[in-house]
Amino acid sequence: FRKELNHVERLSLVGQMAAGITHEIRNPMAVVRGFLQLMREKSPSSLDHYYRIVMEELDRANSIINDFLALAQNRPVQMELCDLHDIIRELSPLLWADANLRGQSIEVKLDEAVPRLMLNPKEIKQLILNLGRNGMEAMPEKGQLVLETRCVADGVALYVRDTGPGIPPAQQERLFEPFFTTKAQGTGLGLSLCLSIMERHSGKISVQSEEGKGTTFTVFFPFNEHLQRQEGIPAVAE
Ligand code: ADP
Ligand code: MG
Repeated sequence: FRKELNHVERLSLVGQMAAGITHEIRNPMAVVRGFLQLMREKSPSSLDHYYRIVMEELDRANSIINDFLALAQNRPVQMELCDLHDIIRELSPLLWADANLRGQSIEVKLDEAVPRLMLNPKEIKQLILNLGRNGMEAMPEKGQLVLETRCVADGVALYVRDTGPGIPPAQQERLFEPFFTTKAQGTGLGLSLCLSIMERHSGKISVQSEEGKGTTFTVFFPFNEHLQRQEGIPAVAE
């Protein structure tokens, strides 16, 4: 009975999200259609301006659809033994380009002792990009984003730290809810996607934030026994 209830609850959550997503997608699509019509009617000199708006709205619709699909496909994913640092090195040019445009800086601190981990590299890349982009979106010019890895007793921690305004305690509780956003152009799906990715990795994600100082998201990858043996990591004393 317990299992059935969970399944029903899950279905109803997916239903609610589908309803929300349809609503969210309709608005940018309507804007796109309206401006396309105007582009047809107006002179070519004004096309540049409309084109930019069309592209922005299309990007927005795209990111909603992508995040939603990634979230809705909540099924076991293929895990492989990966170097977390390779993933960070691969994605940092993307974050760096973004930071450059915003006049912000990025620092990466990698703990050499971090072993390989059982991961889905695509998902972890998406997770780090989401956290990094959130940090940058929260910070003013001159803000600093820090990506840091550290070996802790029973796993590996990844910290994504920003020098933004911080998050009020009342909001911290709602961050991981689908569609919770404080941004005019936000989808509110980024962090709920991060949470579901970490659930699939049997890991954890949490937030520490101080108003006026900044925010740190901590992502934790627990060692598993099989992996520890393979990588020669000594067992942790209980
Ligand atoms: P979105 O970025 O589309 O708003 P997210 O799920 O990624 O959706 O984030 C949800 C909300 O959490 C954001 O709208 C913002 O209010 C808050 N948030 C997330 N990361 C940070 C951060 N680093 N600093 C301040 N607020 C944040
Ligand atoms: Mg986001």
